[in-house]
Amino acid sequence: MTMTAALGDATVAELRSAVAGTVIVPGDPDYELARRIWNHAIDRYPAIIVRCTGTADVVAGVRFARSEGMPIAVRGGKHSVAGFSTCDDGLVLDLTPMSAVQVDVSTSRARAQGGATWKQFDRETQLYGLATTGGLVSSTGLGGFTLGGGIGHLVRKHGLTCDNLISADVVNADAQIVRASLEENADLFWALRGGGGNFGVVTSMELAVHPTGPTVLGGAIFYPGDQAAQVMSGWRDAITDAPDELTTTLNLIGAAPPLPFLPGAVHGTRVAVVIACYAGELDKGEAAVSAFRRLGDPIADILAPIPYLALQQLVDPLWEAGAANYFTSVFLDGLPDQAVDTLVEAQGRSAPPPATSELHVHQLGGAVCRVHENSTAFSHRQSPFLLNCVGRTQDPADLASVAEWARRTREDMSRFGGGPYVNFTAEGGAERAAYPQQTYARLADVKRRYDPDNIFRFNQNISPTSED
Ligand SMILES: Cc1cc2nc3c(=O)[nH]c(=O)nc-3n(C[C@H](O)[C@H](O)[C@H](O)COP(=O)(O)OP(=O)(O)OC[C@H]3O[C@@H](n4cnc5c(N)ncnc54)[C@H](O)[C@@H]3O)c2cc1C
Repeated sequence: MTMTAALGDATVAELRSAVAGTVIVPGDPDYELARRIWNHAIDRYPAIIVRCTGTADVVAGVRFARSEGMPIAVRGGKHSVAGFSTCDDGLVLDLTPMSAVQVDVSTSRARAQGGATWKQFDRETQLYGLATTGGLVSSTGLGGFTLGGGIGHLVRKHGLTCDNLISADVVNADAQIVRASLEENADLFWALRGGGGNFGVVTSMELAVHPTGPTVLGGAIFYPGDQAAQVMSGWRDAITDAPDELTTTLNLIGAAPPLPFLPGAVHGTRVAVVIACYAGELDKGEAAVSAFRRLGDPIADILAPIPYLALQQLVDPLWEAGAANYFTSVFLDGLPDQAVDTLVEAQGRSAPPPATSELHVHQLGGAVCRVHENSTAFSHRQSPFLLNCVGRTQDPADLASVAEWARRTREDMSRFGGGPYVNFTAEGGAERAAYPQQTYARLADVKRRYDPDNIFRFNQNISPTSED
């Protein structure tokens, strides 16, 4: 018998009367759509989905799940590649209707509800010429993104998104509302900044926002795949003394998408792409990026002044929901020539189109490495690079092979660093590798205090009962 059948109509009706939002169960017309998240490799069947309209719905949902002994999957922007924002037989607290964003210009802060996306956040903050470090794909949610760290175009200038978190309102496992900040529940505040969704439902978060744009220097330069090694090593050398205003990523793509500005002959072939954002004075920006234009023979160069809002949405069409995806990552201590060779060799083994195999090397440093290692649960602050190995396919039958390629590449690259980024993982069970032992032990202490029964377990799960 399924959990929903076991609950009975009367119990579901009780929940329906307790919440203002919609309650969806199997058989309802919306169920099929509502159970799905961004990654269609994930195919799970929750017993109940509650579309929360506010904190009161979250409290009612947590109380209900507790009384029925159900685990809770919390859903922010639905972009967990591992599928943590859905579950089989549990209760999904879907925060997507909770997407309000309010900007306080006088304090340079913005408050966002727990289900807001970067598209919604950037739109409101850019009204005032403000922004904080946000996702490279605007449909990503602030919730999971911030709680896991948060790496984007402003990361070297303003730090990780979690470094910009000022306070968070959390509904904990006892359905109590607590505020976490440096002044209140500081242990929880420390854990929320990198420890993921382990500690409760974040109904709203307050973030520092900074003058940004409205025009920045941003975009991408495409090079042919046979120049990948020289492009990657040239990029590595060019960013050695980069100013904080500049954040870049080097992507090795197995099959170039049919973008209108790429010649037809390039579509489906291997390319190396430098992606850059200079968030400062535009003339200084050109000096900072000029070396990227001479790394080889560019196929296309769309690195130019662009509204920050447009840059934040530039690659959205390439990352729509519905494909099957596998991400796996490793922080790198550096990018020596052997690492470059390993990545280029992996690109040579990438899956043929229409599957996509991509290697994203994110440049870190800057403001990220100036925050003390113990001040947040996020670890790996001194790593200069993060590698994300991405396998993506419209045909689920190809998933196993692109996932295998991504795993193998990450394993081959592990000798140049270590530890995954919790936000770039397609599998659970990465928590021990993601945090140093002392950090894990501290997270487990906080978990025991706020969720001793582990009802929030769909995440890189910190066990409340772990010994160390
Ligand atoms: C297309 C794409 C692009 C991405 N780009 C970037 C990028 O540029 N930089 C980067 O750092 N990461 C990036 N990511 C990874 C992203 O940060 C994680 O997938 C993140 O978990 C997404 O958050 P979400 O709220 O959208 O996801 P969800 O799937 O809704 O949630 C993810 C996890 O966070 C928990 N959670 C979400 N909201 C809350 C909340 N309000 N309270 C408590 N727990 C919550 C969930 O329970 C779950 O465990 C990207 C992912 C995708 C799929």
